[in-house]
Amino acid sequence: MTECAISNHSSNHSSKNVALHALVPSAYSHAHTVIQEILKLRFGFDHFRPQQEAICQAVADGHDALVVMPTGAGKSLCYQIPGLARGGATLVISPLVALIEDQVHRLIGKGVKAGRIHSGRSREESRETFRAYLRNELEFLFIAPERLAVPGFADMIRKNPPTLIAVDEAHCISQWGHDFRPDYRLVGERLQGLEGTPIVALTATATALVQKDICTQLRLRDPKLFIHGFRRANLAVKLVESLPSERPDRILELLSAPDRIPAIVYAPTRKKAEEIATRLAKKFRARAYHAGMMAPDRESVQLAFLNDELDVIVATVAFGMGIDKPNVRTVAHAALPASVEGYYQEIGRAGRDGLPSEALLLHSFSDRKTHEFFLERDFPPTPVLEKMMKGVPAEGSIYRDSLVSKVSDIDPEAFQKAIEKLWLHGALLVDADENIAAGPGYQTWKKSYEGQRKSRIGQLDSMQAYTSTDSCRMLELIRHFGDTTDSSVVCGICDRCAPSSEVREMDEVERTTASLILASLEGRDAQAVGRLFDEALKITPKMSRSAFERILSALSRARYVELAQSEFEKDGKIISFRRVQLLSAGKKAKAANLASLEIEGPRSDDSGRVLKKAKRKVGKSSPAYRVPMEESAVTPKLFEDLRAWRLAEARKRGVPAFRILSDRVLLSLCEDLPSNEQALLNVPGLGPKLVQQYGEDLLKMTSQRL
Ligand code: ADP
Ligand code: MG
Repeated sequence: MTECAISNHSSNHSSKNVALHALVPSAYSHAHTVIQEILKLRFGFDHFRPQQEAICQAVADGHDALVVMPTGAGKSLCYQIPGLARGGATLVISPLVALIEDQVHRLIGKGVKAGRIHSGRSREESRETFRAYLRNELEFLFIAPERLAVPGFADMIRKNPPTLIAVDEAHCISQWGHDFRPDYRLVGERLQGLEGTPIVALTATATALVQKDICTQLRLRDPKLFIHGFRRANLAVKLVESLPSERPDRILELLSAPDRIPAIVYAPTRKKAEEIATRLAKKFRARAYHAGMMAPDRESVQLAFLNDELDVIVATVAFGMGIDKPNVRTVAHAALPASVEGYYQEIGRAGRDGLPSEALLLHSFSDRKTHEFFLERDFPPTPVLEKMMKGVPAEGSIYRDSLVSKVSDIDPEAFQKAIEKLWLHGALLVDADENIAAGPGYQTWKKSYEGQRKSRIGQLDSMQAYTSTDSCRMLELIRHFGDTTDSSVVCGICDRCAPSSEVREMDEVERTTASLILASLEGRDAQAVGRLFDEALKITPKMSRSAFERILSALSRARYVELAQSEFEKDGKIISFRRVQLLSAGKKAKAANLASLEIEGPRSDDSGRVLKKAKRKVGKSSPAYRVPMEESAVTPKLFEDLRAWRLAEARKRGVPAFRILSDRVLLSLCEDLPSNEQALLNVPGLGPKLVQQYGEDLLKMTSQRL
C-alpha cells in the first residue's frame, strides 16, 4: 500500500520537484523523508551506508554528479533511489551484459519495474521493452553503450527523455582509465540533446586525471564530486619481495598461516595460474580459473568457490567482476599488477564481511621488465607508426601486403600491432579485404596514441612507486584516489606500519654499498638508479638488482635519500627512470649510522645468486612470444589457407581481418597444429568464445596437417 503511495507520488516528477522546492523551509526534511522511505519500503534497508544519503539527495535534486567509491560500497542505490525519487524512468548505461542482467534481476526481485535492451536479447524482446519505456511503464531501462549508436534509438530517447541518466563503470569512458572501451568514449556525444536530464556517473576506480576526463567527456555541468570510502580498515596490505620462480612455494607458505583462506590468487598468465593452482592443490582445495577454460568449467569452479567447496581460486584478471563473496580472507598477487587502480579493485575483493583480511603482493624488480616487454610489444614506438603512415596514400587505398613490402624493415608482429593501433586511433580505415586508407584521424592520431601509451607507462610507474613507498600502504592508496575526506591516519596493520620480523640490520656488503651510494651522490644534483647500480657492481659484482633496490629503500626510509620518477625522450620513445637525490641527513650519515639501518628481505650475497638463475628462466619463457614465421618450421601453405579463410570471414562480417584473428594467432595455429578443441584452447589468444565461433573451421585446416 505505502509502496504504491510512494511511486504514485513520485511518478509525476516535475510537479513533485516544484512542490519540494516550494516547501521552504521544510523542503529539506520532505525530500529527506522521500529518499529515506524509498530506502526502507522499496529496498528493505534500514540505514544508508556512508555517503549514500548525501549522494542520493544531490542527484534527486537534479545535480550532475560523479561518484567514485570502491566496489561493494553500494553505488547502485546512488542512482536507483534518486531515480525513483524523481519519478519517470532512469536510463542506465552499463558496459557488460552480465552486469546489466544481474542488476535488472535484483531490481525486479524488489518489485521495481526494470527492463533491459542488449545484444543477448531477441529483437522482439528488445522492442517490447522499448515500447514499455515509451508507455512510461518502466522505472529503469538498462542499455549497453553501443545501443545509443543504433539509428533512431537516441532520437526516440531524446523525444521521450528519462528523468535521470546513470553511467555505471564510468571509468571505461576514459582512455586514461584501466579498462577503456571505445564505445564508451562516444556516450557523451550521443547523449547530446538530453541536457535537461541530470547525469550521475559512477565508478570504483578513477584517479584524479580519470575523474576529470569523465566529467569532460560526459559534459557534466558543475558536477558534485563524491570521492569516498577508499580506506579499508580491516585490510592489511603486505608486499613481499620474491623471485618469480619462488612464488608458488611462497604463496603456499603464506596461505598456510592461520585464517588465510578462502583466498583468491591473481596470476599474470593462464600458464602461471595453472602452475600455482597445481602447487597449491598439494595442500588446499585449489583450482585455476582463466579465459582459456570452457564456460561450464569456469562456472563450476566459480560456484564451488562461492559455496566454500574450494579454498583457493587461482585466477587471471578475468575473474572477479561482480563477485560478491563476503568471507575472502586473502587476495594474493603472484606478480606486480599493471596499475594501482586494477590492484585496488582486486584487493577490494577481500574482507567484504569486515573481518580482518590480508592483501599479499609478491613482486621483485624483474616484474617491471616483464611489463615493459609487453608494453613495447603492445604499443610500438611512434616512429614505427609514422613510418607506416608515410606508406599510406592520402587519397585512395593501399593493399596490406603492398604496405608490408613498402615498410619491409618493420617486423611482422610490430606491423600488425601498429595497424591495430592506427585503426583504433582513427588514423586508418581498413576494410575486410585489408585495403588500407587514411582515416578521419589521419592528422591527429599521434596525440591520442602517445597519450595512451604514456598513460600506460605512467600507470606502471605509479604501481612500481607503490612498491617502494615508505609510508603506510593504505594511506598511499587513499591518496592515489584523491579521497580528501579521509582521516589521513596510518592504518597500523600494513607491512610499513607493522613490519614483520624479516626486518634486520644491514650486513657488511650492504653497508659498503650504502656508503658507496651516499658517496657517489655527494656534490651532485641527482643520479639515475641504473647508473648508481653500475657503480655499485664495480665493488660488489655479485650484488643483484633486487638486493641493491632494498638498500636504496632502506636509505630512503631513513630519509637519507629521496627517490623520484623522471623521464626523457629518445628516438620518439619516452624512457622513464628513477632518480636518487641526497638529503641533508644523508650527507651527515656516518658509518655508525649505517650499521643501525634496517633492511628487509634476504641477505645481499645469496640473493644475487638466486636472481641470476631465475633471470635466465624468465627470459626463456617470455610469455606468449613467438618466433617470426621465417625462423620457424611453419608450413607457409597452412598460413596462407588460414589467411584466406580469415579474409572470407572478414568480408562476411564486414570488419578488418585482424578483428577476426591476429597474425600471431594464425602463426601459433601453424606451429601447434591443434587437432581437437582442448588443443585449440591452449593456443595463446584463443578463448572459448572464439573456439565456439571458429573452432570447427580452424580444426578442419589444422588437423589435416598432422
Ligand atoms: P557497488 O556498485 O558500489 O560495487 P552495489 O551497489 O552492487 O555496490 O552494492 C553492494 C551490495 O551492498 C549489494 O548487495 C547491495 O544490496 C548492498 N547494499 C547497498 N547499500 C546498502 C544499504 N544501505 N544497506 C544494506 N545493504 C546495502
Ligand atoms: Mg556497481
